[in-house]
Amino acid sequence: MICQTKQKFKAAYTNNNWLDGSKGNSIKVGYIWLRGQMETVRWHHWVWNSLNIPKHSFISWLTILGKLRTRERLGMVGICSDTSCLLCTSGNDSCSHLFFQCEFSHQVCQGVMGWFHIHSNSRENLYVHWRKWGWKFKTKYQQQVAYASLAAVVYHIWRARNNALWNQIVLRPDLVIKQIQVDVCIRMKAKLSNRWSERDKTWAASLMV
Ligand SMILES: [Zn+2]
Repeated sequence: MICQTKQKFKAAYTNNNWLDGSKGNSIKVGYIWLRGQMETVRWHHWVWNSLNIPKHSFISWLTILGKLRTRERLGMVGICSDTSCLLCTSGNDSCSHLFFQCEFSHQVCQGVMGWFHIHSNSRENLYVHWRKWGWKFKTKYQQQVAYASLAAVVYHIWRARNNALWNQIVLRPDLVIKQIQVDVCIRMKAKLSNRWSERDKTWAASLMV
């Protein structure tokens, strides 16, 4: 599986077949290419969104660059032999599994989506969220809050993974969801200003936990 993935990426890179036409070996377009998607996602809108907590932006950025030190990544250079996911019973500890396929992250995403009253019966992962969350929210401030939540999701999934690795404790998804909500609410309160419309203020108040 790892070799197949590497070969796919290599083939894409060799052929300059990245979606945005760049020649860089960029994981962000790599993920999309790997999944057969034919549209460009504007990742920077949420990664560098001004409402994000900086450490959330940083981890999100490392995720997109494929720089997180996952077991799969360490296994490729012979440092780690067990590459299994630390948060669920299937899959590898890799960015693509952790944020796109993992049952644990799926549950966290569903919980955060529910907080925003976005309901879906289909099995959606972070990739789908990244596409949908931008247009779901009607005003700029609501979009910023949604993107800040998305960055918080990435940060807290990675944190839960590290907790499982170093402390042998897998947090319950509902506790992770709560941490995400608390972080986002603290940020909303800190950034709340008179420039927010009454509609946005009411919307923000409805999210407070
Ligand atoms: Zn998993």
